[in-house]
Parts: sequence; structure tokens; C-alpha cells
Amino acid sequence: MTQEELFKVLVAHCKEYGFIFPSSEIYDGLAAVYDYGQMGVELKNNIKNYWWGAMTRLHENIVGIDSCIFMHPKIWEASGHVGAFNDPLIDNKDSKKRYRADVLIEDYIAKLEEKNNKEVEKGRKKFGDAFDEAKFRETNPNCVRNNAKIAEVRKRMADALNANDLKELRQIIIDCEIACPISGTKNWTEVRQFNLMFSTQLGSVGEEANTIYLRPETAQGIFVNYLNVQKTGRMKIPFGIAQIGKAFRNEIVARQFIFRMREFEQMEMQFFIKPGTELDWFAQWKKNRMAWHVNIGMGAENYRFHDHDKLAHYANAATDIEFNFPFGFKELEGIHSRTDFDLGNHQKFSGKKIQYFDPESGESYTPYVVETSIGVDRMVLAVLSHSLKEETLENGETRVVMSIPAPLAPVKAAVLPLVKKDGLPELAQKIMDMLKFDFNCQYDEKDSIGKRYRRQDAIGTPFCITVDHDSIENGTVTLRYRDSMKQDRVKIEELPGIIHQQVDLGVLLRNL
Ligand code: ATP
Repeated sequence: MTQEELFKVLVAHCKEYGFIFPSSEIYDGLAAVYDYGQMGVELKNNIKNYWWGAMTRLHENIVGIDSCIFMHPKIWEASGHVGAFNDPLIDNKDSKKRYRADVLIEDYIAKLEEKNNKEVEKGRKKFGDAFDEAKFRETNPNCVRNNAKIAEVRKRMADALNANDLKELRQIIIDCEIACPISGTKNWTEVRQFNLMFSTQLGSVGEEANTIYLRPETAQGIFVNYLNVQKTGRMKIPFGIAQIGKAFRNEIVARQFIFRMREFEQMEMQFFIKPGTELDWFAQWKKNRMAWHVNIGMGAENYRFHDHDKLAHYANAATDIEFNFPFGFKELEGIHSRTDFDLGNHQKFSGKKIQYFDPESGESYTPYVVETSIGVDRMVLAVLSHSLKEETLENGETRVVMSIPAPLAPVKAAVLPLVKKDGLPELAQKIMDMLKFDFNCQYDEKDSIGKRYRRQDAIGTPFCITVDHDSIENGTVTLRYRDSMKQDRVKIEELPGIIHQQVDLGVLLRNL
């Protein structure tokens, strides 16, 4: 299966097994808005709990809050979002399709990288064992030419974005001869800026109604509560505030399923530090966040850092943690050194003093901030796209399995009576009653045992517990493991211990 086909299969699978549904589907859906179903919500909650635990339980100096989506409109002036939270847009006059100019250019660069990868593959075949990939990339004339072009286009784009030079952005698209993927023509409009915030009215319609925005990031709810938390929690710098919550962006290029949505969820942590220490903390949080990802067990090779050429209006250093999605390495999490931009501006706009008094040195200052910001939905997509596999078994049959890391799996164990009689359902229910307080379990007695195993494989249940006639005789059950399909005979009272060892979030946190 190509990566693209795999992605289509994934979207269909997510719907069929209750992970993710298109929003408002009976009304033909709403673009770039998705709902989580009975399996999706469990997976999402497990991801959130893993993050929350890693932040607030493993760090005595990080606490959580839950601030509102609606906030005073001045906040978005202070944060720069009213003035600068823009995407550069360009339309193709023939297809009438709208694109983000920077995304079109990024896609062009990705195509050149793809060409290089093909050259490398050819080289590998030709030279066999003696092949030196790094050297090949440096010396092969086609790779050299493509690399020079990539560097040139990257630099031009970063300069144009930093200078907000929309004419130059358009010129890059013209010079690179980028065509519309739909119409195939190069008939482009000018590039325009478009603000990504959704607005609505607070209060009764009429003159006294205020325009307010749905927050485009959760971070500002943390900044405006900095003083409250610092004082009431008697927090000493360095300390952090973590928050999980919805954010809204009127994304123009909304595509790739839950990768880019208009309503999504973020897990953000703002770490308040002494000015001058930000680059050390930035390095530390890069390390810490990468360790959090790799600890899940989806392969360190599927993550990489991408340092930013173009810095956001608030940052003095920034990197992305990219994940190897079916459509290539793309941003999963952002880590930004935001300086005192936010607290300083809130001080200016609100007129309230937002400072930290350091009891040891006796000085007062506006803290600097290092932020880690990850999209819950992108994390769900990372887990699902990595986990979905179609396997051919020894007997030639195929099975679809979601090898979701066990601590994140929606259902931890399925309890399956072999037949619907002879007291087996009753014993199975007893096992359910034993396990349900600690683990999310499913009871299933319908269809053949093989079919039931397949259903559990498809939703990623790590354990199936089969109750048969011997179970009544000797108190043992068959424990089947999802990934190896190995079956063990174990005592009923051993089940909680075995399951706990594999699925408990605490075990995952302990490995960090
Ligand atoms: P992108 O460049 O992909 O638009 P961004 O750099 O604007 O992302 P940030 O503002 O750094 O993203 O947001 C932090 C995180 O929030 C991202 O790493 C991503 O996981 C998530 N995120 C941002 N926008 C969306 C969206 N429209 N849908 C889903 N998740 C999103």
C-alpha cells in the first residue's frame, strides 16, 4: 500500500470502528471539523492523561489550570494576534482554489526532496553494499542541483515571510513555476493576508455588543493568570503552568483529516524563567519533550527536530518536533522561547504590573517564557497512523490490527465467553466485575471467537481473555496478546497484575 492509500484506509477505519466521525455528517459534514467517537475519546483521554501526568505529577514546579475560551478582546491585541496572526493566501484564477502561499512553496521543496530520495534509491541499487548515502547526496549532480535550489528557495521564503513581503512570496511561486494541483495552471492572483481568528458577539446584538474572539491558542489563558497562580500557589521561578483545552483557527488550507482542523485541542505548558536563562531551558525542554514522545514506543526514528528559519512574532528561538505521518514528516509539537513578549505586552495593555520579585537576589523582573505546545488531535493522528497495519497470517488470511501502544489503547481487555451457555457468560461477567474498576474492558459474546478477536484487533485491544469450560473447572482462562497473537493459559487471579504491567499509565510515566 502506498502512504496515500494507507491514509485513505485509515480515515475509513476510524469511522467504521468509532474513532473519528466527520462533524454533522447527516447534514453532509462541516469542513475540517471532526467528532470523536466511543473509541476516539478514550484514546484522546489517555493521551491527555499521559501528558498531564508527565507535566504536573513529574514536576513539582508545574501546576495546571483550565481557563476559558472567551477572553477579553484586548488580550488578542496585546498578544499580537489581531495584528499579526495572518496567513498569506493566494488563489488560482482557473480552479478558484485558495492556497497558503508558504504551503505551496513548502510542497515544492518537498517535491525536490522526494526527487533526491529517488536518486538515492537508484544509487543504492547501482552500488550495492559499497553505497555511501551521505557522500552520494553531496556529489550526485542532480542532488547537488536540487539541494542548491532548496536552500535558495528556503532562504527567499524565510526572508519574505520575515519582512511580510507578499509580492516576493508571489514572485517565488512564479519563479519556481508552481502550478495549481487542481487546474494545473500558473494563473495566480496577488498574495493577501487573512486573519485566522473566529469572531463572535458577546452580549445582546446592538450597540453595546462586543466583538470577541474564540481563542486561537490556549497559551494566553495561562499568561493572563500568571499573577494569580504565582501568588496563590506561592510559585518560585522557574515554574510552569500547564493547560489542555480547545483552540480555534479559521484555517484556509484545512486538509489531511485531523491534522489541520478549525476546532482542535492543545496541550500547552508555559515555563516561566529568569531572563538570560532561556536558551538553556529551551534546550532542556527540547530534550524533555522528545523523551516523552519516544517513551511511547513508536520508534525514535519517526521523530525529528525542525528548527525554524522564520520566527513567530513572539519568539527568539523555535523548533518543531516533527512526526513521520503517512504524508511525510510534519509538525506535531512546537517548542518556543517566547521571551517576555507576552507578559510584557499584557503589562502594557492592562496597566497592571506583571513582575516577579526574586526573594534571593532582591530584584524584580518580567519573567521570560519557554513554551511547549502540542496538538492533541495531531497526536491522535500520529498514534493511529503509526498503529494501523494489515498483516498476512501464516494461513494466508489477512487481519487488520491497530497496534496502539498499550497504555494509550481505548480498551485494555476484552472478556469473551467461548459459548453463550454452560455458565461461561456468568463467569465472564465476574471477570468483568473484577477488572472494570481499574481498566476499560469490553464484554463480547456475539459471533465466533475468531471474529471477536478480529474486532478487538481492529480497535487495538492489547488483551483478549477467553473463558471456556476448563475455566469453570480449574479457574484458568486463555489470555491472547494482540500483537503476537500468542495465547497463554493463566489463572484468573493473575489477570489484573499482567494487564496492569502493560497498560498502566503510571508504568509509562515511571520510564520517563
Ligand atoms: P502549522 O504550521 O501546522 O499551522 P503552527 O506552527 O501554526 O502549525 P502552533 O501555533 O505552534 O502551530 O500550535 C501548536 C500545536 O498546535 C501544533 O504543533 C499542532 O500540533 C497544533 N495545531 C495547530 N494548528 C492546528 C490545527 N489547525 N489543527 C490541529 N492541530 C493544530
